[in-house]
Order: sequence, then C-alpha cells, then structure tokens
Amino acid sequence: MKKRVVAVRRLHAEQLARLEREHHVDYFGELDQHTMPAFLEKMQKAHALIGGKLDVDEELLARAEYLEMIATISVGYDNFPVEALTRRGIAMCNTPDVLTETTADTGFALIMTACRRMAELDRWVREGKWQSHVVEAQFGFDVHGKTLGIIGLGRIGAAVARRGALGFNMPVLYSGSSPKPHVEEELGATHCSLEALLTQSDIVCVTVPLSSETHHLLGAQAFKMMKSSAVFINISRGAVVDEPALIHALETGEIRSAGLDVFEQEPLSLDSPLLNMPQIVLAPHIGSATHETRRSMVNLAIDNLLAGLAGQRPPNIVNPSAWASTQ
Ligand code: NAP
Repeated sequence: MKKRVVAVRRLHAEQLARLEREHHVDYFGELDQHTMPAFLEKMQKAHALIGGKLDVDEELLARAEYLEMIATISVGYDNFPVEALTRRGIAMCNTPDVLTETTADTGFALIMTACRRMAELDRWVREGKWQSHVVEAQFGFDVHGKTLGIIGLGRIGAAVARRGALGFNMPVLYSGSSPKPHVEEELGATHCSLEALLTQSDIVCVTVPLSSETHHLLGAQAFKMMKSSAVFINISRGAVVDEPALIHALETGEIRSAGLDVFEQEPLSLDSPLLNMPQIVLAPHIGSATHETRRSMVNLAIDNLLAGLAGQRPPNIVNPSAWASTQ
C-alpha cells in the first residue's frame, strides 16, 4: 500500500522518481517561510519524513499523528528529539559510513590548510603581497611526524587517524570511553585520557557526536591544557566546543590556530570574532559536501525509508526499540 512521504531537500530526479514509484511524495526542495505552512499541513498526514537539516520538535510531532519514521540525510541526529520519537514508536534512521571518508578528507584538508597557512597565504598572493621570495613571516608548520590527537575515535575519527598515521607518519593518541584494539593494531594508536591527549597533541581533532555528554566538551580548561603551538580542528558539531572559550584561546595565543567546519551558530554570524583571525581556517559545514557523497547519503536515506515503510527493518536505525515496539 502506498504511504505518504514528505521529502525535504533537493533530490536528484531519479531519487525522487524512486520514492514516487513506491509512495505518494510531497516534495519540498527547501523549507522557508513561504513553504513552511504547506509543509506543516502535509506533515499531518505523513507516514514518513526524509530530509536534511530538519527541525523536528514535540510540536511538530504532535501534529504528525501518522508518522512512522524519519530518515535523516546525515549521520548526526543531535537535532532530533530521539527519546520523544522512541516513545511514539517513530523509527529514526541516519546515513553512517557513506560519508566517513569524505568527512575525514575535510578534516585533513583543514589540518593541512591551517598548519601550512594555505588560506591565509592564498589571500596574501591575491592581494599582490608576493613581491619577493617568502621569509619566515610566511612559514608554516610541518604536519608529518606531529602527534595527532583524536577526540572520539569512531568511524570518522579512525579515518582521520588513518590518514595521519599511514600518510603522514603521525603518532596518534585518542580519547573516548573504550579502547579500540583493532585501530591500535592497525595504526599504532594509543588510548589515553582527554587530559593527556590535550597536553601531548600537536594537532587536536574532534569527531564526537553532539549529545548532552559532549556539549561544550572543549572549554576554557581544555584550551589552557593544550600546547601553545597546537592546532585545533572541529569537524563534529559546533556545540561540542564552547566557542567564546575557543575565541579567547586563539586571541590570547593559548593555542596557535584552528580549522573549523562547524559552529555553535550556523551560518556563522557576521560579527563573529573568528572572521577577523587570519591564521585560522573556516569552512561552511562542508564535511560531507561532495557531489558523490551527498548522492550516496540521499540514496542510503531512501534505502532506509523504503525498507521501513515496507515493514523491513531499515539498514540504519538509531532507536531500534522504537522499531521493535511497532512490529
Ligand atoms: P561514530 O562512529 O559513532 O563515532 C563517534 C565516536 O565518538 C564513538 O566512537 C565514541 O567512542 C566517541 N565518543 C562519544 N562520546 C564521547 C566522549 N564524551 N568523549 C570521547 N569520545 C566520545 O560517529 P561518526 O560516524 O564518526 O560521526 C561522528 C560525528 O561527526 C557525527 O555524530 C556528526 O555529528 C559529525 N559529522 C560531521 C560532519 C560535518 O559535516 N562536519 C559530517 C559527518 C559527521 P566511544 O564509544 O569510545 O566513546
């Protein structure tokens, strides 16, 4: 039986067609003030919601009385009230794995760009300041051989670690609740406390999910512990970092530089002091933003949705108890 699906995100024609072959689809390329009333109306009848960057709250759930599942086009699901979904028996699906390598590429690009000052020196060349050979004022810092600290050695953290250990001969430290023997064996990585990681790493990269436990995991104390030569990379979620504390650490030279893909407020506010720091690298949340990976993420989200609506357990479900309660 065809069900009602609300899709929010630009989909390729063949992806939309795949959904429409199986179900009635109400498609919103973007949600804005013009499309929001129609979206809210369609949610009243929807059995499934698929999309990215969705704001789902209790109010929306109260309207959506037929909703059986949500398929987000992201691995992170911190913007969804998972407990409330589970209580209502609504399955929550995400898109892990297909974005791991691309997001790790982004992390390593930020490491390289910050350490070798690529973005800063690109601007310097364009501004016509390259008048003679470069001097120490333009020198950067080596990446190879430096100690790489990964906070949260999951899929993406391990992929960043792999690039560092195998490609750049970097000793790897990692923190997290459990040691990962397979990664230790593969990369010679060392499990340690967060404090040890912060004090010993030259490059600190955060790859934890955002949760009540990791909210502001990195604050003033953490930045004080880091080497004054340290470079800080965040490719997880902005709110894992206390941003004013990071800004203070950069302004006062507690740490040297940063490469940031995610921010507490996105898009970054035009009055953020981060915009006035030439030595740091800023990216507009592009961790998984390549043509290939975004296409794979949508395909996986559709796999999840079609399986779930057909009564089969979706390949990627983050609240299995919600699924079990409806079977
Ligand atoms: P994952 O495989 O679940 O890995 C997350 C790791 O974080 C887990 O292995 C866990 O290790 C660790 N962790 C959890 N709480 C921790 C804590 N308090 N301290 C230290 N480690 C902790 O997830 P993933 O696929 O790698 O994705 C990670 C996150 O990256 C996503 O949730 C998403 O928010 C973010 N992301 C961002 C982008 C972007 O565009 N910038 C793209 C993709 C993903 P333990 O079990 O050992 O604690």
